[in-house]
Amino acid sequence: MTELKPCPFCGNKPLNHQDGMYECRNLSCPIYGKEIYATIWNHRPIEDDLKKQLEEAKELSIEMETIRLYTEFRQQLEIANEKINRAVKELNVALYTLNQDEYTKSWLVPILDILTKETQ
Ligand SMILES: [Zn+2]
Repeated sequence: MTELKPCPFCGNKPLNHQDGMYECRNLSCPIYGKEIYATIWNHRPIEDDLKKQLEEAKELSIEMETIRLYTEFRQQLEIANEKINRAVKELNVALYTLNQDEYTKSWLVPILDILTKETQ
């Protein structure tokens, strides 16, 4: 059974005539005394359309927020990548300035340690 909606003009609870007709009994309502079929009484095309538009707007808002967050995340990621690349280049330059033995130790020993630990 569908929910009976209030009067679309005054918001009053309608009188149910038990014969499928509804009536607003508010004396100051523009449809006072008019008996209206239940299906027509509950039919609110503008309200239904507005609710649909509101749902679509909410979905669009969520999509836009997701895109905004994703774009922001990508920008932060690019900045972080640039910083890492710059740091690696600076580190390489610093390591090249060391003698070959120190350079080899500084790179190969930790890597070999990691590789041997991972394969164990
Ligand atoms: Zn009314």
